[in-house]
Amino acid sequence: MIERLAILGVGLIGGSVALALKRAGQVRHVVGYGRSRANLDEALALGVIDEIADRPESAVDGADRVLLAVPVGAMAATFAGIADHLAADVLITDAGSTKQNVIAAARAGLGARIARFVPAHPIAGAERSGASAARADLYDGRNVILTPLPENALDDTAAIAGLWQVCGAQVAEMAAAEHDSIFAAVSHLPHLAAFALVDELASRPQAGLFFRHAGSGFRDFTRIAGSSPEMWRDIALANRPALTAELDAYIARLSAYRDALAAGDAGTLMQSFTRASLARSRWQPGDTLEEDE
Ligand code: NAD
Repeated sequence: MIERLAILGVGLIGGSVALALKRAGQVRHVVGYGRSRANLDEALALGVIDEIADRPESAVDGADRVLLAVPVGAMAATFAGIADHLAADVLITDAGSTKQNVIAAARAGLGARIARFVPAHPIAGAERSGASAARADLYDGRNVILTPLPENALDDTAAIAGLWQVCGAQVAEMAAAEHDSIFAAVSHLPHLAAFALVDELASRPQAGLFFRHAGSGFRDFTRIAGSSPEMWRDIALANRPALTAELDAYIARLSAYRDALAAGDAGTLMQSFTRASLARSRWQPGDTLEEDE
């Protein structure tokens, strides 16, 4: 049983952890801190949190578990702000979509207390934000990836795995660098592709006409372009090296399509479309490690 859980960033992800732990009867008191007072008031009114803290250091005061669920660009300041106010037996986890930069931020902020931090990334989400989007069942049957540090005690890693399992998730482990390169390809690149397509079409004088005639293909490809711009700006910048490499590979594919179109090369298009169609048909979303953000 968690006695006092501090959530820094009470949005979709942080709020859903609070609701899932409450559903399981595994947390006694949840304290929330965030940037927006209106969002925290809503979280309190909805029963997502039990108390609002007006500073990060008062949120973590006496907490036995701390969850950082702010955008990844805000992690460094958050770790630095709480470092001197943590209880001796605290365990900290996070929900950041990128891991190497969050771990670097934790090392810089927590210093000698780094062993208390077990990094995590829930592969669950939605294109909605804020405490009002939080759901107790968000993590049911979903994967949470832990990227434990060499400093973590096995028992502490197991305790954080247990926290996420109580939320309904299955837990897997991998190295942070591997995590960031996989998610650059299957999550971060698709989000950039969707943002780019919608922004391109929306900037045209005939945008209204285009959107009126867009069908289910456009809807499916661009759903994730409705996601939080701030969150995705931070993820893109945080995972810059891996994401740049993925963008280069994708641009090369698109260029090859462009060349094939210019040359009227039906064979090249057919081969590539056939390979893609087969691979996509074989992929079962039920097995997914893809991020539904
Ligand atoms: P969200 O916008 O719903 O919630 C983020 C919360 O953090 C907001 O309430 C905001 O007010 C608060 N916040 C922002 N900057 C802050 C700061 N400097 N100090 C304190 N509070 C601050 O976003 P979310 O979807 O809950 O995402 C939270 C984290 O989870 C991010 O790191 C994101 O990368 C990660 N994540 C998101 C998804 C997803 O699909 N949405 C999935 C997995 C992981």
